[in-house]
Amino acid sequence: MRNKKRACEELGILSEEYSLSASTTQEELMSLIETLNQKEDIHGILVQLPLPSHLDEESVINAINPKKDVDAFHPFNVGKIMIGNYDFLPCTPAGIMELIAEANIDITGKECVVVGRSNIVGKPMGMLLLHQNGTVTITHSKTRNLYEITKKADILVVAIGRANMITGDMIKPGAVVIDVGMNRLADKKLAGDVDFESAKDVAGYITPVPGGVGPMTIATLMKNVVKAATL
Ligand code: NAP
Repeated sequence: MRNKKRACEELGILSEEYSLSASTTQEELMSLIETLNQKEDIHGILVQLPLPSHLDEESVINAINPKKDVDAFHPFNVGKIMIGNYDFLPCTPAGIMELIAEANIDITGKECVVVGRSNIVGKPMGMLLLHQNGTVTITHSKTRNLYEITKKADILVVAIGRANMITGDMIKPGAVVIDVGMNRLADKKLAGDVDFESAKDVAGYITPVPGGVGPMTIATLMKNVVKAATL
């Protein structure tokens, strides 16, 4: 949140933060979202997930006006992403697509493996790679023989939430490895889902943690806010 607010300041975008207490009720949160939906000088609404367990995340997301849904989590925007005709790109996957494009990597026909199937990262990531003609496999906690699947990937996107789980021996030599994971270790350091040390010599390209996918997520969010202001 701090980095998102800082990015807004740098770009001259007004940002308002509502730091609610953990005991906030569903009604209070829904009422705040409705107020922000109505505010004409607010173009984007972002609810930082996860919410405390007593709150119903789905109905909170559904309450956001889709035109202000700069995270692209509302079912209306998720559906548009599926079709490939979107107003808002999902921030983390879109940031990753930009990294791949910047490195001049052609996705067409490539074996793309996404580890993790969350609504926020894994599923929309798979969809964006598919739109760019990748051959996409999405894996999850029930996937058998993960090693064999990741080992075939030309482009491997990892979004699990488990520190250093993907090791160098699970990576095809020369593969593009995108590490979405952000895991806080006991010593407070940040670690990705990919074991950078063993992966870096095998991969052709690899994103570091921190400093890889995270800043791209924020950049896409800023783009979405600007887009929302024009809708
Ligand atoms: P999530 O909602 O917890 O989803 C994790 C996914 O990983 C699930 O689909 C789960 O499978 C799968 N998984 C768990 N264990 C697995 C295993 N052993 N083998 C294969 N798949 C396994 O997490 P998320 O929101 O996608 O986030 C993932 C990570 O990315 C987290 O570390 C998060 O902090 C980070 N993140 C970073 C950014 C950024 O901007 N850098 C943005 C978003 C998230 P099931 O579905 O079967 O449970």
